[in-house]
Amino acid sequence: MAEMTTDDFREAVKKDPIVMIPLGATEAHGSHLPLSADTIQPEFIAYAVDSLLDNILVAPPLNYALHSTTKNLPGTINLTFDTVRAVIYDMLTSLYEQGIRKIIVITGHAGSGHMTAVSEACKKVVKETNAKIIFFADCDIGEECSELIDIKNDGHGGLAESSRVLAIRPDLVRCSRPIGKYAGKKYVVHKDASVCFPVGIIGDTTKASAELGTAINDYIIERIIGIIQNDFE
Ligand SMILES: [Zn+2]
Repeated sequence: MAEMTTDDFREAVKKDPIVMIPLGATEAHGSHLPLSADTIQPEFIAYAVDSLLDNILVAPPLNYALHSTTKNLPGTINLTFDTVRAVIYDMLTSLYEQGIRKIIVITGHAGSGHMTAVSEACKKVVKETNAKIIFFADCDIGEECSELIDIKNDGHGGLAESSRVLAIRPDLVRCSRPIGKYAGKKYVVHKDASVCFPVGIIGDTTKASAELGTAINDYIIERIIGIIQNDFE
């Protein structure tokens, strides 16, 4: 979309396209991944789907999100719950007013608060309009692929995410391969939730590879195409 003109967009809307909105983040992702890791992944997936199907438009990504455990780590830029809910609601409503009726919101950041804020915005727009909206975190779909079935305790900045970024932007992945475990205490509300992430990531990245990342990315792309064909066509 960002490279279209207003005339291009007006013509495209006449064909009742699906708009994919990649939601990213600017977030600490350990010593090896860039702050843009959560943007790189859904944007790549959206453009891959766009290259395989007709009548898709990819909106420019939103590069900021709501964070809890990584909020105080260097480089994380945080939005509050109400801001995320409001900005997503405004983006969806604006697209609807432009004539868009089918929207896929694909988020690369899957923190629970962020997911709830985006979900609330999507539900409000679905209630108020006749837009069709699909919302998911690409990493949640990736978790279901066979390559990851036996991998336990992998999460933020871990094996799957490191591999996926290696497959997409190897030039941005540094040489370190950290191993991190969740260290939060059950039931305790922490004053600074970053104590839960002592090395800033969850998982063992020593076996991260572009091959694994490509397998996960391909699986996600295939699943999304299935969702589009079953739920939008
Ligand atoms: Zn991430």
